[in-house]
Amino acid sequence: MSVTVRVPAKVNVQLAVGGARPDGFHDLANVFLAVGLYDEVTATPADSLRVTCEGPDAARVPLDRTNLAARAAEKLAARYGRRADVHLHIAKDIPVAGGMAGGSADGAGALLACDALWGTGASREELLDICAELGSDVPFSLVGGAALGTGRGERLRVLEVGGTFHWVFALADGGLSTPAVYGEFDRLTAGARVPEPAASDEVLKALAAGDAAGLAAAVSNDLQAAALSLRPSLASTLAVGGGAGALASLVSGSGPTTAFLVQDAGAARKVAEALVGSGTCRAVRVAAGPVPGAVVL
Ligand code: ATP
Repeated sequence: MSVTVRVPAKVNVQLAVGGARPDGFHDLANVFLAVGLYDEVTATPADSLRVTCEGPDAARVPLDRTNLAARAAEKLAARYGRRADVHLHIAKDIPVAGGMAGGSADGAGALLACDALWGTGASREELLDICAELGSDVPFSLVGGAALGTGRGERLRVLEVGGTFHWVFALADGGLSTPAVYGEFDRLTAGARVPEPAASDEVLKALAAGDAAGLAAAVSNDLQAAALSLRPSLASTLAVGGGAGALASLVSGSGPTTAFLVQDAGAARKVAEALVGSGTCRAVRVAAGPVPGAVVL
């Protein structure tokens, strides 16, 4: 018997970053939207904890205990006083180290899969607690839809969304390390007064109304300058999407994936074609959101 859970990627339609706190973390106002690009995590009983992975980026996924899926299984097992004797297989479609919360998705997916496989019957609150221990983006991977994350991004308020938003994603060669991007953010903002991060009313209104043009005018990512500073070539990718009619072009989270908000599926095809033809990215994906969070298949 095995359990498979499907978990979506995310795009940040707003990522407001405060100054570095004494503990090194940053306060965030993070508006997440789950999009239809998925990893699947399958949990099967085994003699001991084991992780395998398939997919185009599989070679870049750690298969040891540092994998967020393995850590999720261990945390759930520890809470319920049992052994994490499970084989976790990840069918990976979310780009690795791409700023789309792929590792977080696998953490949330493994947690839900093990919960179902072991019949632990953990409450939603308990699962969300474990997610928050695993990482700032993990609770959102469980919840999906759209949400505002505050604190380090892990305190979530579910947001209403009045329609479907169409996106094109350009995948870049290699990844960008999230800590390195925050380090660059700290360097670029050193000596400046960084305002307290706050959710933008315009972003929330546009999401609620399902208004793509309104959302395009309001999206923002405070990590974009840092990601571009570490990877200047992303500017050409952003320009190609803009030139092909994207309503908004931005770096996804900490990058190096770039995200293009478009009016509809037809516009998505046009922007995708232009990006593929430009040679400025490794691969292009089209996805819409919001979609539900982690679900048992
Ligand atoms: P975020 O958007 O949350 O900042 P990301 O999408 O940029 O994250 P991930 O794909 O989550 O980045 O991977 C970041 C690093 O985490 C990888 O380079 C890898 O070493 C490690 N990692 C741990 N578990 C996983 C996993 N299941 N899948 C991918 N990477 C993982």
